[in-house]
Amino acid sequence: MADISDRRQGVYHGLELEEGEQRRIRQWDAVQGLLQDAWHTAPAFRKRLENAGMFAEDLRSWDAFGRIPVLRKKNLIALQRLGPRLGGLLTVDLGALRRLYFSPGPIADPEGLGRNYWGWAEAFFAAGFRRGDLVQMTFGYHLTPAGLMLEEPLRELECAVIPAGPGNTAQQVEIMTAWPVTGFVGMASFLRIIRDRAVAQGFDPRADFHLQTAFVAAERLTEGLREEMEQSFGMTLRQGYGTADLGCVAYECFHLGGMHVSSRCLVEICDPQSGMPLPEGEVGEVVVTPFNPVYPLIRFATGDLSRLVTAPCPCGRTSSKLAGILGRADDTAKVKGQFIYPHQVGQVMADYPAVRRWQVRVTNPKGKDRLSLVLELSEPVDVDALRNAFQEQLKLRPELQVLSSGQSLAPDVPALLDERSYD
Ligand SMILES: [Zn+2]
Repeated sequence: MADISDRRQGVYHGLELEEGEQRRIRQWDAVQGLLQDAWHTAPAFRKRLENAGMFAEDLRSWDAFGRIPVLRKKNLIALQRLGPRLGGLLTVDLGALRRLYFSPGPIADPEGLGRNYWGWAEAFFAAGFRRGDLVQMTFGYHLTPAGLMLEEPLRELECAVIPAGPGNTAQQVEIMTAWPVTGFVGMASFLRIIRDRAVAQGFDPRADFHLQTAFVAAERLTEGLREEMEQSFGMTLRQGYGTADLGCVAYECFHLGGMHVSSRCLVEICDPQSGMPLPEGEVGEVVVTPFNPVYPLIRFATGDLSRLVTAPCPCGRTSSKLAGILGRADDTAKVKGQFIYPHQVGQVMADYPAVRRWQVRVTNPKGKDRLSLVLELSEPVDVDALRNAFQEQLKLRPELQVLSSGQSLAPDVPALLDERSYD
């Protein structure tokens, strides 16, 4: 079995070490091939271009590519029902797939043939899974792709899988303490439930479990929970980012600091409204083009917000990293040309512990945008300094509205409330 230092070294394949120019050329070739194929074999893509007055032969530069209207996840539900082959989004007949799953929506998630179809093998290698691991898989196997999708990389890496599925906490504990289970795949919050149950039964997670590595996904992972699980079990826990439509998009390496973008797709950070790419380093919506000829979701807008980090990583992988998922694109508003992102407001407020709750409100009395920051304080703060810090971070100057003692914001108010009307 792999020891700890093996688990932290190496890469799954050479594409992870490509230098920048080489990667850009490979991506462009992949994108060109995808565009030509999709134009001829995916009528839904052709229609998307034609509706925008574009033709495949126009798409000869990255600039032109960035003008292709994005495909929004919420539109898939209706689009997939418009005709055969999932409304022309799919390039093969349904019967030629390996599997067809259904996500809530309901959205059909096709799985084509071929090895490592969902592309998670490099992510699992980066998380430290190695040949010979015995892995407990706690994602679901019915209808949803999660369980089988994340089993695929374990087969590629020659690990053995216990298809436990979700729930049944007592049995999960029983298996993981009775057998040499070295890997866990599932949600970090579920691993905590397993840990708590085990502790309540008198087990010592370090001595009685054998976990060395865990791969988690499907929910926001806090650093606190990561540390807690790593400490409890004496192991490494890494997360991946992807969707049931796209498969793997990005994943953490041993050195953390964000999630390396997978070699199997193109990731753009875009203006959540226009879908156009933003300058490097800015926060925007994650738009993904997986190099998948079976289901060419070209410029698929995930609705998740992030930014790209391009600083070199000590692991040697040369791809940029997504700086975590910073929020949802639906939770933004554009005011005077600037997007307001609640997580950025949260960063400012973190320096003011006296701010008990806050809310950003956008209104437009007489057609003019007005930005207000409502503050509920436990004690007085320097409001001018706070307003300056807000302006520094968000490039917008808010009107402050400090609630008097006795007034309070409801615990569940949205961080950002856009009350503008355009009638
Ligand atoms: Zn790295």
